[in-house]
Amino acid sequence: CEAIERLVAELGADGFTPAFHKLGLELFYPLSGIGGLYGVFMLAPKLLGGAYTQLERLYLDRMIRFLAVGVQNVLHHESSITDAKTGLYNHSYFSQRLDDECERIKRHGGSAGVLMIDADHFKLFNDRYGHLAGDEALRSLATMIKEAMRNEDTVARFGGEEFAILLPGASVEQGEQVAQSVLDRIAASRIRRIDSHESVGSVTVSIGVARHRAGESAESLYGRADQALYLSKKGGRN
Ligand code: GH3
Ligand code: MG
Ligand code: MG
Repeated sequence: CEAIERLVAELGADGFTPAFHKLGLELFYPLSGIGGLYGVFMLAPKLLGGAYTQLERLYLDRMIRFLAVGVQNVLHHESSITDAKTGLYNHSYFSQRLDDECERIKRHGGSAGVLMIDADHFKLFNDRYGHLAGDEALRSLATMIKEAMRNEDTVARFGGEEFAILLPGASVEQGEQVAQSVLDRIAASRIRRIDSHESVGSVTVSIGVARHRAGESAESLYGRADQALYLSKKGGRN
């Protein structure tokens, strides 16, 4: 049928192995929308036996079209809050999260920490190793930063070679510990070229940490973390 032809066209015949045929599936609906195929909805034969009626098929067809729009909306939302280069959250999502967290603290109390991270002398890194290696370095930094965080922390690429982290519930000491762990990981690592995997050297970062003060706005908290970052740059970086 048309649905299977489209599936074969998009997945290739290799997608349909003998194990797949053994499942004995009866109906296939592609979940497609803007950008192509998102998934496949598959139905086994009816438990009570008998073929799917024309009406049942029509009903399923409508339902699957709605489902596909739902999937499309989720994917669209995800891409609108994600930085394409690193896969981290983007600037606008981070700002929203920080606003929400400051509002939450105002109502329910608690604390939060913010880290601003900036790669040191990154212009020199680009000049020496090229822009592609620079991009690879940014992706490595993103991975290493993410690995040092907990699930509830928000990690964003703030723009260029800057990253911002929100640590809900963190004290200054916890913020400093996280910052130190990020510094250590990054300082101990090597950046590799994407094409040849050749090691091209290392990058260091500087980090500013600030803890939320009672009644403080997101803007002020972010501003103090940025000021601390400026001091760490002035104080010799890394
Ligand atoms: P500092 O230690 O004071 O932060 O020095 P810096 O060289 O890192 O700072 P500067 O603001 O002078 O330069 C930032 C550099 O980051 C310049 C820019 O080309 C580079 N950069 C920003 N975004 C990207 C990117 O997406 N990819 C690459 N490869 N480089 C980027
Ligand atoms: Mg910068
Ligand atoms: Mg920099």
